[in-house]
Amino acid sequence: MSPGRVVVVGSFNVDHVWTCACLPRPGETLAGEYHTGPGGKGFNQATATARAGAATSFVCALGDDIGGQLARALAVADGIDLRDLRSDAPTGTAGIYVDAQGRNSIVIGPGANAALSPAFVEAQRALLAGAAAVLVQLESPGDAIAHALRIAHEAGALAVLNPAPANATVAGDLLALAAAITPNETEFSGLLARHHSEDIAADSVAGMDDARLHALCRRLLPHGSVVVTLGAAGCFVSHAASLLRGDTHPHYRVAAQRVRTIDTTGAGDAFNGALVAALATAASRPFADAVGFATRYAALSTEHAGAAASMPQRADVVARFG
Ligand code: ATP
Repeated sequence: MSPGRVVVVGSFNVDHVWTCACLPRPGETLAGEYHTGPGGKGFNQATATARAGAATSFVCALGDDIGGQLARALAVADGIDLRDLRSDAPTGTAGIYVDAQGRNSIVIGPGANAALSPAFVEAQRALLAGAAAVLVQLESPGDAIAHALRIAHEAGALAVLNPAPANATVAGDLLALAAAITPNETEFSGLLARHHSEDIAADSVAGMDDARLHALCRRLLPHGSVVVTLGAAGCFVSHAASLLRGDTHPHYRVAAQRVRTIDTTGAGDAFNGALVAALATAASRPFADAVGFATRYAALSTEHAGAAASMPQRADVVARFG
């Protein structure tokens, strides 16, 4: 096993962001401030694991274009070992409109991300099997993601599934392969509806009684750990009774860190990357410590604009919060 190494398997997108007074309606043309930067849940999380202090490999698919060149240059800058499938399709893109209240509308062009295949993941078997942890999300083809989880599961690496975005399909066997899942409220409610016909409103999750929330987490992942992220309300952690991962309680809440938030884009990716980096680099450390670090790391990411660009360095988190 490669000590502390995290392998992230997922998407890279070039984000094109327009900030406007309001979101454009059909037929409407608006002027707005424009900026571009790196994104994609996979790359955001790989940037977070690397900056949080874990040796990181990133398995993805890129186009032979300027977006692909950007990904390669950024990976070098953050010391990320890039394992990219070269696709004929253009590198993935996201068009993002943000209004004055911070609400957004997003269109994703998967492009090269759609080319990530089980065969390419299989070619990385030794890397995945030797990692301390493997972190995946659902912006890439389901069969490739399932294959990565399967290799990690068989090899005994910590397999973590961030079941995002909420509209992606999660096959039942994908859940069974994960040692831990990290849905936000919307993803949690969607998974319960699809897999257990439970009708739980996403906006009721944060205020739900702890015992009830724990029972729902146990239904979703009977043998693993569930971390439900609740935005500015923090998160809820639920473990299988047989696997407390160093914690003393099977379920508990962690409050969000109060900071001067300006942009929550990528907060979930920051949380996932920091959580898995902490778990991979200090395996004997209680899970709650890793959740605490992820909470501080994600909070600090909201003080900066952008997706991958907003991920702080581990030293910044330590300097700020100790
Ligand atoms: P996104 O889609 O914006 O990346 P998400 O919905 O996947 O985010 P959230 O639940 O919003 O994920 O946030 C993840 C974690 O980030 C939270 O559990 C919390 O610790 C932290 N966080 C989010 N928003 C804030 C905030 N406003 N202030 C402090 N911490 C925050």
